[in-house]
Amino acid sequence: MESSHFYRDTWVEVNLDYIYENVTNMKRFLPDDVAVMAVVKANAYGHGDVQVVKTALEAGASYLAVAFLDEAIHLRSSGIDAPILVLGAVRPNDMSLAAKYNLTLTVFQLEWLQEAISVYKENLPVTFHLKLDSGMGRLGVKEKSEVTELIEVIENDPRFFLEGVFTHFATADELDTSYFEEQYQTFLQMLEWIPVKPKMVHCGNSATGLRFPEKVFNAVRLGIGMYGLTPSLEIKDQLPYNLHEAFSLHSSLVQVKKIAEGEKVSYGATFTADEEMWVGTVPVGYADGWIRSLQNTDVLVDGERCQIIGRICMDQFMVKLPREMARGTKVTLIGGQKNEYIHVDDVAKVLGTVNYEVICTISYRVPRIFLKNKSIIEVRNPVLINH
Ligand SMILES: *Cc1c(COP(=O)(O)O)cnc(C)c1O
Repeated sequence: MESSHFYRDTWVEVNLDYIYENVTNMKRFLPDDVAVMAVVKANAYGHGDVQVVKTALEAGASYLAVAFLDEAIHLRSSGIDAPILVLGAVRPNDMSLAAKYNLTLTVFQLEWLQEAISVYKENLPVTFHLKLDSGMGRLGVKEKSEVTELIEVIENDPRFFLEGVFTHFATADELDTSYFEEQYQTFLQMLEWIPVKPKMVHCGNSATGLRFPEKVFNAVRLGIGMYGLTPSLEIKDQLPYNLHEAFSLHSSLVQVKKIAEGEKVSYGATFTADEEMWVGTVPVGYADGWIRSLQNTDVLVDGERCQIIGRICMDQFMVKLPREMARGTKVTLIGGQKNEYIHVDDVAKVLGTVNYEVICTISYRVPRIFLKNKSIIEVRNPVLINH
């Protein structure tokens, strides 16, 4: 069990009501027979996997997806018994482990399957989803002959069950839909190679579900949209319903002091005060995922935008304050204060990256507080595991 305590003045708040709403809205938006598969890889995109999973299941998600076996085992060990698809490649040797934990495996190559079978000595059933590469160029089978042989191998072993077939789009979040259409047509052709359609056919990530609900077959793999973030900025104003950002990041001023004109701040002494000013020290640094490139950007202190000055250190950075402020004043790095809001997308823009990367980068070292109905229902602080 993770400790329910933390002793530092920095934390992530995860608003589970928003996760719930984002899943409910997607369910409502999709045709009735389309399932929502909640994508909770990378610790639920940095939010915290177990709480997000429980909320998503309550909101009507019926399947879960993770990237790696370890992530799936973590969910099983935490008492989650919903079906879980491992999207990534599992080691052939570990098929028995997947069977033991009742996990669904992605089968993406005949050679991989043959190797896994050659070492699989259990009598436990194994469920597969077949991954077809329709143009993403990542995991998946491309050739008809390989698909045919692979399906034969699965059918000929009574322990194996092909429950699903899927693909992944490279450009579902782009305004230009030509490559998306091309991939979609390729997927349709590839499906013809499979004589008996498996129970589940899925191709949609959040962007596909939000933009092309008529094209998703019978399940959507909902990731970024569940966390209330847009799959890309270019489609942000065409979303069919409002997304609610569930993630926010907060800290507080641990010291406030006045520096004189000419005084320096932080490593390298790169910042020199051009006048007398008030400076606050904030206990967040690059080891928390607040990386050095965020130097000079703003955070919110007492409802006002304040600039980070000098280099961001491993565990701390400094902000220029508009006036003297009390030690303990709340600092918001992502989220709202009074009339100001810093969105994950704002941070992503500064860094020249996507919102996905920002939330995944906030490290395990920052405790996660889970809120439901405005009350704290759990605190997770992996740093204090077993303490
Ligand atoms: C991560 C992932 C998703 C989720 O994508 P979002 O854009 O976050 O909705 C879906 N499918 C696969 C195969 C993935 O790897």
